[in-house]
Amino acid sequence: MNCNIIKDLMPSYIDGICSDETGAAIEEHIEHCQECKKTMQLMQQPTIQIVETNVEVAKKPFNLINKKRRLQVITAILMTFIITSISALVIQDVGVVNQFFFPKVTAIAHITDDSEEWQSIRFSADGINTQDYVIYDSVFWKKEIINDANSDSNVYLRVKDEKGDVIIDEFPISPGKGVKLEGLKRKEKYFFEIKASPGRFFINAV
Ligand SMILES: [Zn+2]
Repeated sequence: MNCNIIKDLMPSYIDGICSDETGAAIEEHIEHCQECKKTMQLMQQPTIQIVETNVEVAKKPFNLINKKRRLQVITAILMTFIITSISALVIQDVGVVNQFFFPKVTAIAHITDDSEEWQSIRFSADGINTQDYVIYDSVFWKKEIINDANSDSNVYLRVKDEKGDVIIDEFPISPGKGVKLEGLKRKEKYFFEIKASPGRFFINAV
């Protein structure tokens, strides 16, 4: 048999599917033909294909894990985002509900000189927007004015109406104390003024 026929038969021989007769003929040829022997050795070697198959087998579950992991990470991020958003909404709503049932505006007054002049107080409900008046727009206002315990000292306050007339003249409040204001009307703007020695004062209207 010539070399080309032997080479054509080699795959069948390696796979063990050729007849015993053919196998014997191939073996005999190889004994005497160095070229075909080399070819046979090369064909019998574990080939790159097997390595690739192994890599693929190893790769598939790895990819799958990666995809799962990716999904988990995305899910985790989404869940965190959703929970944070819901929490923020809940807190916001609690704030709105609180502000409705327990209305409160606060002011920080810095008195820098001891001229003992009246200074107007700017109140804020949210810590961002300020206004220089208090409007008791619901029955939930207690109509109390409090000098916070963290204030530096006693303050004197007075209340004016929109026309600028003093409707409650000066009254003292020591830190940590509040004063209930009687006779104030709903839906009228009241302007508060402060007089104190130099310091920092936290005034709450509830
Ligand atoms: Zn040969």
